[in-house]
Amino acid sequence: MSARESAQAADAPPFRLDNEYLPFRFTATLTDRHGARRERLVDAACLTAWLDATGLRLLGAVAAPADLATARDLREAIHRVGTAVAEGSEPDPDDRETINALARDTRAFPMLDEQGKVMWSTDSRRPVRDGLGIVARSAIDVLGGPVRPRVTACRNQDCRGLFVDTSRGRNRRWCSMNTCGNKSKKAALKNRA
Ligand SMILES: [Zn+2]
Repeated sequence: MSARESAQAADAPPFRLDNEYLPFRFTATLTDRHGARRERLVDAACLTAWLDATGLRLLGAVAAPADLATARDLREAIHRVGTAVAEGSEPDPDDRETINALARDTRAFPMLDEQGKVMWSTDSRRPVRDGLGIVARSAIDVLGGPVRPRVTACRNQDCRGLFVDTSRGRNRRWCSMNTCGNKSKKAALKNRA
């Protein structure tokens, strides 16, 4: 059984991998934080499957329950700091440290694979933590780097999912057209009818 199949066996909703930015693809493993919360990292097997789906399953590692706790801590820290960035407020120092610590510890490194594309590996004995460290480093780039002013929270108040608004007019409203964008379109049509 593959990691993906075992995640399905745990009755988790499917992953949402449509966010262009890795840290927000990760925060999207919990959706509708302010509504009917949908958790996709329901167990360690789901974490293994998510790492696999995003190319961060280093050395074929299998996540343990302790890794799941680390992953969820990192995820919520990224979400809170990202929300603070979107709202123009100060991020919580503990959240910054959660992200910084994983970024600092990771021994992951990128390599070119046989097709000349990026793949990640590590020389440590904590490959799951190293995979999460890649997410943490990417979070630092996104939350603190050039795209920082474009970090935005979804207008759907139940969702408040994060994304980077790369639209020219900086007027993107939804984390994804497939979910919140569609919901809003349907609601507008219903109101018109
Ligand atoms: Zn949304």
